[in-house]
Amino acid sequence: MTAITLLRGDITRQSADAIVNAANSSLLGGGGVDGAIHRRGGPAILEDCRRLRASRYGKGLRTGQAVATTAGDLDAHWVIHTVGPRFSPQEDRSALLASCYREALRVADELGARTVAFPAVSAGVYGWPLEDAARIAVETVRAAATEVEEVRFVLFDERAYEAFAGQLA
Ligand code: ADP
Repeated sequence: MTAITLLRGDITRQSADAIVNAANSSLLGGGGVDGAIHRRGGPAILEDCRRLRASRYGKGLRTGQAVATTAGDLDAHWVIHTVGPRFSPQEDRSALLASCYREALRVADELGARTVAFPAVSAGVYGWPLEDAARIAVETVRAAATEVEEVRFVLFDERAYEAFAGQLA
């Protein structure tokens, strides 16, 4: 049974076995939580990402997939990078967003991570409506077959926190 916990705060300040990054497919850094993770985690994360691009992920990481690197200076063993879908009013991309959570947990299981902190994937620059992003996140984690003992959603602002709290109520 996986416990789901909620916290308002900065995910880069968390102590967890793995911290999930809402990356972009280049894996080479970006804004939002991605930028914050690379800034606080230091250059070791980017070095690992570059190595992945030079080997298995020559074309980048596909939307809905996940891959781990070192966590550098963060208080974690690993960063698990996943690429959320951009929200589209024309096309239902929910399955890809669910896949981010499922795949990140699958990678966490492979690593033996027991505590995993997630941001609200796709709910920033990628424009996913918060309530729906929260619903998909919580439903997917609840349904996942995983050895992870704690999934901690770390929400940066009050609105995001309230959206996730609403799903857990
Ligand atoms: P995406 O491109 O997947 O939308 P963003 O990084 O733009 O990714 O936003 C995802 C979510 O992460 C947003 O809700 C944003 O407010 C939040 N966020 C940004 N910085 C941090 C941080 N340091 N810790 C936790 N969440 C963060």
